Amino acid sequence: MVRDMSEKILEVQSLKMHFPVKGGVVRKVRGYVYALDGVSFSMSPGETLGIVGESGCGKTTLGRTIISLYRPTDGTVTFRNRIISDMRQKDLLPLRRNFQMIFQDPYDSLNSRHTVRYILEEPFIIHGTGDRKEREKSIRSLLDMVGLPSGSLNRYPHEFSGGQRQRIGIARAIALRPELVICDEPVSALDVSIQSQILNLLMDLQNELNLTYLFISHDLTVVHHVSDRVAVMYLGRIVELADADTIYKSPAHPYTQALISAIPEPDPLSERERIVLQGTVPSPVNRPAGCFFHPRCPRAEKICREIYPEAANCTKGNIEHYAVCHFAKEENR
Ligand code: SF4
Repeated sequence: MVRDMSEKILEVQSLKMHFPVKGGVVRKVRGYVYALDGVSFSMSPGETLGIVGESGCGKTTLGRTIISLYRPTDGTVTFRNRIISDMRQKDLLPLRRNFQMIFQDPYDSLNSRHTVRYILEEPFIIHGTGDRKEREKSIRSLLDMVGLPSGSLNRYPHEFSGGQRQRIGIARAIALRPELVICDEPVSALDVSIQSQILNLLMDLQNELNLTYLFISHDLTVVHHVSDRVAVMYLGRIVELADADTIYKSPAHPYTQALISAIPEPDPLSERERIVLQGTVPSPVNRPAGCFFHPRCPRAEKICREIYPEAANCTKGNIEHYAVCHFAKEENR
C-alpha cells in the first residue's frame, strides 16, 4: 500500500522520562532512572513502527508515556496536531479512545473477576457510547473480529487459553476504533505456535481498520515481520532508525549488527558471523560516559569513551536511516 508519509498521526519530540530513585530514612532523591532520555520520532497513519531492544532499554516506558500513563519529565507527545503529554486527565479522556494499548501479559491485563462481556463493554460505558442494545451488538461483532465464539461472553478470563485471552485483550483495545494502538510485546508471553496466529490477526485488523501500530518487542524477527520501519533502543535512547529491510540487511550501528547477528539463520550454509556482546546492559541509573554502548561495543575507540555520538544520516534514496554512532557512515558506505 502506498502511504502518505508526510501526514503525521503521532510526533514524539525529545521525550524524557526520569524516575527518581529514593533512599534513606527521609526518602531523599539519590538519583534518577533515565528510562527515556530524548526520544524523537514521528509516525504516519496506517504504518507500523517497531521498537526493539533488550529489556531495560525503555521501550515499555516509551509506550506508556505516549499514551499518558506516565507524565513525561520533558519533551512532547503530539497526537493529530494536539500536544497530549501535558493535558489534564479530564481533557485527555475524550481523546483516549483514539489511542489504546495491548499489553504483554494476557493473564495480568484482564480483570479475572469480570466476564468477557463486561471487559468488552466497559470502554463503551466509560466513553458513553451507545445504549445497551448497541453495545451488545458491538461486543458481539468484536468477538467475531478477533475469532472468538459469541458463547465466550459470559465466561471469565481464566477459562481461556493464553492466545484466546490475548484475543480478548485485542478486542478491548480496538473496541472504540482507535487510530493508534501500542502493542507492548503482544506475543512474547504466548507459545510459539500461537504467536503467528496473533500476529496475523493484528495485521488483518490493521488492514481492516487502518490502524497505526507502535509495535514493541525484544524479538527482531517478529518486529521485522510486522513493521514498516524499526527503531532500535539502547539505554533510553534510539540508536538507529530505518525501514525494516534496511535494519535487517544493512544495519549501521554496532548494537543493531549484534542483535541481527543473533537471529538464527534458516539457511545452514549461511556464513553470517555471530557477534557476541560482552556483559549486560548497564544500569540506566549509572550510564557510562561517552557512547552508552562503548563498554560492550566491539568497535569502540577512544572517542567513544569520551563523546556521545551525533545521529549520522545514513539515508540512501528517500528512505530515512540514521544511526547514533561515530562510525555509522563508514559502516554504511
Ligand atoms: Fe560503538 Fe563507538 Fe559507535 Fe558507540 S560510537 S556504537 S562505542 S563504535
